[in-house]
Amino acid sequence: MRSPTPIQRRLNELGLRSRLRRSPRLQGRILAAAGARKRLPAATGLFFPFYHDVPPEFAAGLRRHLRAFGELGPLVSWDAAIEVLTGRRPLTGPTFCLSFDDGDPTWRDVVVPVLAELGVPATFFVTTGLIGRPGNLGWDDVRDLLAAGHGVGSHSITHPRLADCDDETARREIADSKHELEDELGVAVRDFAAPYGNPVVDLRDRHVRAARAAGYRSFATTLRPAMRTGDSPMWIHRQGLHPAWPLWAVRTRVHD
Ligand SMILES: [Zn+2]
Repeated sequence: MRSPTPIQRRLNELGLRSRLRRSPRLQGRILAAAGARKRLPAATGLFFPFYHDVPPEFAAGLRRHLRAFGELGPLVSWDAAIEVLTGRRPLTGPTFCLSFDDGDPTWRDVVVPVLAELGVPATFFVTTGLIGRPGNLGWDDVRDLLAAGHGVGSHSITHPRLADCDDETARREIADSKHELEDELGVAVRDFAAPYGNPVVDLRDRHVRAARAAGYRSFATTLRPAMRTGDSPMWIHRQGLHPAWPLWAVRTRVHD
């Protein structure tokens, strides 16, 4: 049998990963084995853990993750995290900044109540084309996120892989989603999280430039290493997690 080419290997990995994403408990158990050699951060660094939907059966898991982070250091707002990166706020230990992607109704039904209970701020990156569609949040729900004290950013209009878009389409996805959010919410929207977010396959430097040109102050990827003061807000590293995962699995993403 011939060994797979690097591209085939990559596709196989993606296929395995998306199958595992549909079985988060199984994925968590597999990852947990790899987490045995890692530890949650003890050194100074800024981490951006993020989630998607949080079904009710995983509310306890989200609570457990957030409590574990809170024992290590503060959970700060996106505004505060940007102040850390730009040197206007000191970074004195492990620090966490939480976000959620896409626009699932469990944000309203599960996530916001858990955040209120724990006193944790978050930023919600909204795929604007999903809002108001069956099975997704409505605009009133998004306004309620702001009213609850959370931040709202853009996660594009249709959730494309930007690297596969022509320049004009990518520009629209980045800029027009911002304008729609601003029109609907009546506040400035200055933060963008790239769909999929992996700089190797999903986005290019030109998309960061397009975001800057559209007036964003931050651009989030899914690179994982901890950030520090002086790192660019236009290249934020986030660590994708699932609330079904045991803490040992979290350690494979959020660690020193
Ligand atoms: Zn997404």
